Amino acid sequence: MDIVKNETSAGGLFAEESAGKVDRGEPAIAEAENPPRAKARLKPIDRRQMVMRTIDMERLVEADHPVRAIWEMLGQVDLNPFMRGVRAVQGRPGQATVDPRLLASLWIYAYSEGISSARELSRMCEYEPGCQWLTGMGTVNHHTLSDFRVEHKEAMDGVFAEVLGLLSAEGLVELKRVTLDGTKVKANAGRDTFRREERIQKHLELARKQIEQMGDPRSDVSSQRTAKAKERVLEEKKQRLEQALEELKRIQETKPDKEKAEVRVSTTDPEARVMKNSDGGFMPAYNVQVSTCVVHGIIVDLQAVQGGSDRDQLMPAVDRLEEKLGVPGQMIADAGYTSHPNIESTANRHIDLIAPVPEGSAKPQRYEERGIGSGFHNEAFHYDSAADHYVCPAGKTLKPSAKNRFVGRIQIRYQARPSECKACPFRDKCCPNARSRRITRSQDSETVKAFIAKMQTEEAKQIYRQRPQVAEFVNAWIKDKLGLRQFRLRGLAKVQVECLWAGLTYNIQQWIRLCWRPRVAAA
Ligand code: SF4
Repeated sequence: MDIVKNETSAGGLFAEESAGKVDRGEPAIAEAENPPRAKARLKPIDRRQMVMRTIDMERLVEADHPVRAIWEMLGQVDLNPFMRGVRAVQGRPGQATVDPRLLASLWIYAYSEGISSARELSRMCEYEPGCQWLTGMGTVNHHTLSDFRVEHKEAMDGVFAEVLGLLSAEGLVELKRVTLDGTKVKANAGRDTFRREERIQKHLELARKQIEQMGDPRSDVSSQRTAKAKERVLEEKKQRLEQALEELKRIQETKPDKEKAEVRVSTTDPEARVMKNSDGGFMPAYNVQVSTCVVHGIIVDLQAVQGGSDRDQLMPAVDRLEEKLGVPGQMIADAGYTSHPNIESTANRHIDLIAPVPEGSAKPQRYEERGIGSGFHNEAFHYDSAADHYVCPAGKTLKPSAKNRFVGRIQIRYQARPSECKACPFRDKCCPNARSRRITRSQDSETVKAFIAKMQTEEAKQIYRQRPQVAEFVNAWIKDKLGLRQFRLRGLAKVQVECLWAGLTYNIQQWIRLCWRPRVAAA
């Protein structure tokens, strides 16, 4: 549009006025001074044409792009275990199989980009330069990617260990000081999928009936595919329910009779457990135990477990480390791992445990329940260590009456004479529901005492301060950067494979950050 002629256009008029070129009373003079401009020529867009381009694949990614490092690292690892079961061999007909080095590289790269979906990764191969460089502009089917990720648990164990060996050779792994921390990762199951035995039995019966009533899918050729698909879905549902029932029985065996009926398991992922998360809420999850070497922050062990409590996970983690790499010199763990048995067990294995001092092992006193008044709580009783007895507020003695030995501590019970309590004017406030007053004292073993003394030192406190920056950093990285906030797979074995992929990705990222240098500049 000619802005000089269009005097009604506010923008045009304002533009000319502001430039001081337009006199409202003499438009003819303005036109003479500013002749109308010819229409601008713009480049046409032709979307009907076919285009062929020359692509230099080496130029798809920069010389220091992480895909080059991932490819290089996996080139040093024995991937033959991934080849087991491959039927396509040289000299024989049949479609060639996709190189496991490519599939592994794609998954490591995908995880490093926070992608854990096989479909998404398959789509990325069509447009994302890193994936295009890896595949050489080829495509990879999402079924191939998905199957590869799940089906090679043992091979993944081997690759994880081999990469650790390579990092160790570069001086990135050492076991002098290792942190252990657990993080809850949401299972691929909803809270509403947890059912009691009765409901699971009903659903199972229904699934079996539906399968029986389906008849032979081959009888109706037109709906053959639909019927087969339906049969497969029902069969999978039946298997899941059978597995849920087996898992439920297994849990029931560990429970007292009165609690057996209350046991529930998920019909979607029977091996998941309801766990308390860091927000205080509950969710179906797995507890992922991560051991990390302090010096370079490399994950040296990663294991998904079903137990929600970390207390029972310290020694299994030590066992796994010993089997793969050797006994750690020092283990740093948080209060969740500290217990008298763990202090004793680590000391027996000559491992220096750095952890908060365990809380008093005596059970919380239920004074109200026992009818004990405020002036007669345990603190009102004086312990005479020389005589090894207590003196009560009435001046009577409570002598040792029983001893229970536990790992790392001894529990001693002290009791007053029933005849003295019976005659005591304070009886109603001191022991109204018992024949005489009892007090239980817990005594730590020498090993535990030495541990408590060590943890009071500034040196131990300083070492413990390293824990959050190593252990919690790794957990946060795995969840936030690698996207492992919820498992995509179901069942303990499969979620363990998912953990290994995340751990392997993290370690390779650390290697890239600390060691890797591009060997060949992109052409
Ligand atoms: S009831 Fe027994 S233990 Fe309690 S103050 Fe009296 S004598 Fe002592």
